[in-house]
Amino acid sequence: MDCLFCKIVNGEIPNKTVYEDDRVLAFYDIDPKAPVHVLVIPKVHLSGAAAVTVDTAADVAHIFEVIPQIAKSLDLTDFRVVTNNGPDAGQTVGHLHFHILGGRVLGEMG
Ligand code: AMP
Ligand code: ZN
Repeated sequence: MDCLFCKIVNGEIPNKTVYEDDRVLAFYDIDPKAPVHVLVIPKVHLSGAAAVTVDTAADVAHIFEVIPQIAKSLDLTDFRVVTNNGPDAGQTVGHLHFHILGGRVLGEMG
């Protein structure tokens, strides 16, 4: 499948990993929107939040299980977690990913 983040999971495209286990990969965003900007993705391909089902919800739950560890390892106490679903919401990569943003005062969501 021609998916950028699957290629990152497979090692075909390099990444700056901050956390990895058998189900999850977290790596620095290539175009950071905050001083700390990390993407957390399931290793399994899911096209976005709207594609999560009862069969894959455990992978998403696992992501939220490891986010506190990732945030702590990045010295973040205050941070934002966001996912964009669909182009009108700003999704540019069709593999589910959660942005962790922090390192500055983020203000209100725009
Ligand atoms: P979204 O716009 O919500 O789909 O988020 C996609 C994110 O992926 C953007 O913040 C991009 O900067 C980031 N991105 C695109 N290509 C790469 C890459 N090769 N390595 C790391 N981050 C990437
Ligand atoms: Zn994928």
